[in-house]
Amino acid sequence: MSQEQANYYVGAHVSAAGGVENSPLNAAKLGANAFALFTKNQRRWEAKPLTAGSIKKFRDSCDRLGFLPQQILPHDSYLINLGHPEAEPLAKSRAAFIDELQRCEQLGLCYLNFHPGSHLRKVDEETCLTTIAESINIALDRTKGVTAVIENTAGQGSNLGNRFEHLAHIIERVEDKSRVAVCLDTCHTFAAGYDMRDRADCEKTFAEFERIVGFQYLKGMHLNDSKGEFASRKDRHHSLGMGEIGLEVFRYIMSDDRFRGIPLVLETIDDTIWPEEIQMLREFSL
Ligand SMILES: [Zn+2]
Ligand SMILES: [Zn+2]
Repeated sequence: MSQEQANYYVGAHVSAAGGVENSPLNAAKLGANAFALFTKNQRRWEAKPLTAGSIKKFRDSCDRLGFLPQQILPHDSYLINLGHPEAEPLAKSRAAFIDELQRCEQLGLCYLNFHPGSHLRKVDEETCLTTIAESINIALDRTKGVTAVIENTAGQGSNLGNRFEHLAHIIERVEDKSRVAVCLDTCHTFAAGYDMRDRADCEKTFAEFERIVGFQYLKGMHLNDSKGEFASRKDRHHSLGMGEIGLEVFRYIMSDDRFRGIPLVLETIDDTIWPEEIQMLREFSL
């Protein structure tokens, strides 16, 4: 390539215990040049607003340690269901999602990663996906500068987002296409029934992603092996190379330019080996 290529941004979903300002420090300790974080407790609805001090420390640390906004992939609360079939919980989810986007805005971040939503067996898939798109439109209207990054899912329970078509259905209905994107989780992709165990499987799966969604929307990846078997629809992460997928997909990703310049984030189960996993991924790119 004649143009200078973006780097591979590799890191992990690090702790923000004690304040969001601790997350870039935790990432740097791992040797990461990307990270994910929760900007509030992910298992609770309520959160105190971020303090001015906390925001400043976070931004200063990111500057000092060389983390650009496009290397950081914040994740929203697990409680939020933007496709909720009932009015009241849907309103609650939408309000919480707007709050999450605003927190990202305050931190100077450009992405918010979230799981699309669940139909809870009360409405059909299409209705739920359209509700999710409406939720995104409402939230984007009330915020600026932050892109809504939809994560694909394993399709566990009534969670949507396990088919690439689901992601495409949502994107199609989002008004501002410049502020909607996708994060692919390798564990979820595999558990949802897209094989990636060998090179040919990777070629086929990512060609299908290109055809149905398009790589222009890919703004992040979660790198996880899977404890669950192929097409099990179980969301159970494993350390790289220790699960049912194996290492080939990670070699594939780290040697394909389409995965450069976006956060590649480990959510693997043993955080004590994250430095080694990051190092291994870097070596795959050489
Ligand atoms: Zn994930
Ligand atoms: Zn998962």
